[in-house]
Amino acid sequence: MSARALPHSSGPPLDEPRTEELASGVYAYIQPDGGWFVNNCGFLVTPDSVIVIDSAATEARTRGLRSAVSAVTGLPVSTLVNTHWHTDHTNGNYQFRGATIVAHERTREMMLRYAPTTPDLDGPFPAVPWGALEPAPPFLTYGRGVTLWAGDVRCEVRWVGTPAHTTDDSIVWIPEHSVLYAGDLAFNGGAPLVSAGSLAGSLKVLRDLRELRPRTVVPGHGDVCGPEVFDLVIGYLEFVGDLAASGHRAGRTPLEAARDAGAHPFDQLLDGERLVANLHRAYAEIEGAPPGAEIDLTATRRDMIALNGGRPLRCHA
Ligand SMILES: [Zn+2]
Repeated sequence: MSARALPHSSGPPLDEPRTEELASGVYAYIQPDGGWFVNNCGFLVTPDSVIVIDSAATEARTRGLRSAVSAVTGLPVSTLVNTHWHTDHTNGNYQFRGATIVAHERTREMMLRYAPTTPDLDGPFPAVPWGALEPAPPFLTYGRGVTLWAGDVRCEVRWVGTPAHTTDDSIVWIPEHSVLYAGDLAFNGGAPLVSAGSLAGSLKVLRDLRELRPRTVVPGHGDVCGPEVFDLVIGYLEFVGDLAASGHRAGRTPLEAARDAGAHPFDQLLDGERLVANLHRAYAEIEGAPPGAEIDLTATRRDMIALNGGRPLRCHA
């Protein structure tokens, strides 16, 4: 695999995205290094068309995804599934016009409000080459889930039932191949993020996903892995919960609690400043906020920058 430099806003060149075949006709599209706005996608080749799972953050990265699909098959993309509304997974939807765009009904609602990327969302980041993005929200929506068929292979698209990473997370589960596209419920190598969802809800969902016993997990960010990724994320979120409980009891702010943590078992994860955003969510839940309740995300971004030494957050989109 060559290490062609992709256009991005800061830092050293990243490795080129790569396609991995996980089972017959079942692919992951992995974008190193999985940091902010550098997401994973997937695609399923059916006998007569292609089902794509998530688009990418920028015009250029979504063109790369389309090229990767074309390198595998000449069949057209008939369906695009969004695992959640976050703009790194949906900004490129417009490049799949003509396909049926499928997602949870709240994913559509959130995209109509916040997507494609808006300046207040990219504010914490350095200039990112987003390209010419256009709105393209899902137009086939579901409440609890919907089943797609890749030929005779069953693909279960399921809302996870509670706010977790966001308020609208879905998974794509392919029982026949034991492959799970987990969206951003799973980060592999990067710090998980629950500030826009729920810490308690995330823990419940992650335990449920572990019970599925998938052979292969495609995380929303980071390398393809197995179900051990759920142990990693659960361990991290339990750490956040403990830190929040002691910090809250001691009257420390989320930023002070994050700084108090010092060296800890998860401090090598990419984009570690998310710790303070997660603490904001944990504090809200300690104070009785229900899962997914709105919190001040401007404060979480401000504190992430503070925890990052006052610098804009690292983004290689
Ligand atoms: Zn996300």
